[in-house]
Amino acid sequence: MAITQTAISYYGLNYVEHAAEDFREMLDHGCTTVILAVTEFDFDFWRPNIPKIVAKAHELGLKVLLDPWGIGKYFGGEQVSKFLQNNTENRQVSALTGEKLPYACFNTNSFRDYFQNMCLALGREAGADGFFWDEPHYAFPKSYASITGGAGEDWTCRCPVCMKKFYDYYGYEMPKVMNDDVKQFRWREALFILEDTSRKIKEINPELEITCCVHATLNTYYVTEYRGYDNWDMVASSPYFDVFSTTIIAWELPEGFFENITRRTVEMAKKYGKKSERWLMGYFKQPKDFEQVDKVVDMYEKLGVDRLAAWTYRGGYGTVLAAPDALKLWDKIGENYKRVLKK
Ligand SMILES: [Zn+2]
Repeated sequence: MAITQTAISYYGLNYVEHAAEDFREMLDHGCTTVILAVTEFDFDFWRPNIPKIVAKAHELGLKVLLDPWGIGKYFGGEQVSKFLQNNTENRQVSALTGEKLPYACFNTNSFRDYFQNMCLALGREAGADGFFWDEPHYAFPKSYASITGGAGEDWTCRCPVCMKKFYDYYGYEMPKVMNDDVKQFRWREALFILEDTSRKIKEINPELEITCCVHATLNTYYVTEYRGYDNWDMVASSPYFDVFSTTIIAWELPEGFFENITRRTVEMAKKYGKKSERWLMGYFKQPKDFEQVDKVVDMYEKLGVDRLAAWTYRGGYGTVLAAPDALKLWDKIGENYKRVLKK
């Protein structure tokens, strides 16, 4: 199977005519799809222009997916959260210290309603082709060991809502040290908000496609990150998700890691009849040798990945997370997009 979709993320939604220029540049770079990063501020302030920007992308020939970017700091992303600004409660709580953290607890009805209302309004109004669930996660869940940080014992969430739900289900107080019940509880609750929202989105329009993108972790016996979506079978088997996607891997990580993650992503997607998606790091850091982009794309293709995506438009040019040669990296990704689509 060939790669049929080449996506690029895009933020800074405001004027339709400015977006149109950028969309043309994406088309020149071989992109078939734009992933619009919709922040809480965009939704609150630029809402009238969102459907117009989607319509313009369609008119120019791009598929459009909506990414509720960094909402509540529950999804990945650098922007600030209005939910956290306006709510001092409903935050994730450290299991070991009891500290309230600057991350919304997505197991509370307060955040679930907030998130769902935003997504359903966009589902009804925006006219997009689907949604992209972008690295949903529990805060700092670097329990026991992590490939992106040191070993740690702390985890979230032990807020009053999670503690009560846990007690009601298991009949004893939620422990401070993670056990198997806590792991199962966290997986189940984490999936609920996305499944419930995805189901309701599909009730609005069954054609709206849902991509669930989880962290690209090894999750082996020795190295596990308890992000809440690391049980890939649970995520990929969900009937409400259409595409199983795993996130960006930093260029400096070994080739074997890229291969391991990609092989398992494709296997997992196939096992449950979903499309698979792999990402390219198109911001912040770049490969020492730009030919690595070609090699990784070739590997993705060879291993049977259905869709490619990169973060972000113009290599993050003009932001603090720009790649050192941002425009060159963007061009390199564009070359590869055009190359794989021709096959
Ligand atoms: Zn909680």
